[in-house]
Amino acid sequence: MDKNIKCPLYKKCGGCQLQNLTYEQQLEFKMKKAVKLLGRFHFVDKIIGMDKPYHYRNKVQAAFGRDKKGQIISGVYQSSTHRIVPVDCCLIEDEKADEIIVTIRKLLKSFKLKPFDDNKMTGFLRHVLVKRGFSSGEIMVVLVTGSEEFKSKRSFVNALLQRHPEITTIVQNINNRRTSLVLGEKSVVLYGDGVIREQLCGYTFTISPKAFYQINPVQTEVLYGKAMEFAQIDKNDIVIDAYCGTGTIGIIASKYAGHVYGVELNKDAVKDAKKNAKLNNIENIDFVCADAGKYMVNLAEEKLRADVVIMDPPRAGSDINFLRSVVKLSPRKVVYISCNPETLARDLMFLSKNKYKVRKIQPVDMFPHTEHIECVVMLTR
Ligand code: SAH
Repeated sequence: MDKNIKCPLYKKCGGCQLQNLTYEQQLEFKMKKAVKLLGRFHFVDKIIGMDKPYHYRNKVQAAFGRDKKGQIISGVYQSSTHRIVPVDCCLIEDEKADEIIVTIRKLLKSFKLKPFDDNKMTGFLRHVLVKRGFSSGEIMVVLVTGSEEFKSKRSFVNALLQRHPEITTIVQNINNRRTSLVLGEKSVVLYGDGVIREQLCGYTFTISPKAFYQINPVQTEVLYGKAMEFAQIDKNDIVIDAYCGTGTIGIIASKYAGHVYGVELNKDAVKDAKKNAKLNNIENIDFVCADAGKYMVNLAEEKLRADVVIMDPPRAGSDINFLRSVVKLSPRKVVYISCNPETLARDLMFLSKNKYKVRKIQPVDMFPHTEHIECVVMLTR
């Protein structure tokens, strides 16, 4: 085996595509790719890596099932299959979360609870999801079960808390459908208040079982710091935080701005964003649940003003209606945060042909050992 590879499951799991390289080589690889895709727009600044690129994931998910011998196993699905690769400790996941998952697997046996069988649609525990606030220390455990009935629920919860008193909340989520989605619609809080809090850039954010939250909190501060540096917001500016999730970027930007409008499609995320604004006593921010493209078209049609647009779309990138409306609204600055340099290049091409110029490209390594590349880009009119 290659001497760089530290994880015995490297081949089977497929989650860490670049583990055959040293961390330095990984950063070089990502830089090369970023330059290849984005170099024609502007010089690409050196990628910001992590000092300690291990155990950075604050959200850990494990699927439960049985091996050929009938033993209960927990781990990850082998890439593009439905086969579980048993994982007890992972180089990129939070170590405490991994410990908790192993404890739960051991408890299943003593409580005579069965793992779920995806083919027969029988059994009990399907997945365990653990989220940990790195700076708050709060820990949420979500037990995803195939049915609502939970035999000896109280004693199970107590046994888990006894072994891990650091857990601050436990939620049961019921997912009884044939689906590859981890979480189902219904959740029942078994212990604590069903959410955790986390501090980021001096603000507190609530994280619920379902809402999107950046999975690498250390690098998120670096990324958002760069985004604020690029945005250079003035105190009278109207700022749009598009694809805002639970409002993290907009809330951080509100300190510098006249007013911030956040727009997001997922209604649970918008609810969380509103709560987060309240939690931090922020009054110059509003959140709208809408398609970002449609929202921007409306703003442009009503000839409203926007000085700075910060956008953080999903992997598919933005859409043409959104980009056309940005051009119409003509903000002084656009800050584009992207987790996919391919769609980023496509969108930058459009903006570059339509009165915007790329001024800065900064890759940040949010996902060490994986092939994913995150970039933040500054454009001016
Ligand atoms: N800026 C946030 C979230 C970024 S993830 C953060 O850093 O935490 C991208 C977000 O875009 C997700 O929350 C997703 O729900 C949202 N989204 C996806 N398509 C959208 C659309 N068409 N309009 C608005 N939001 C969308």
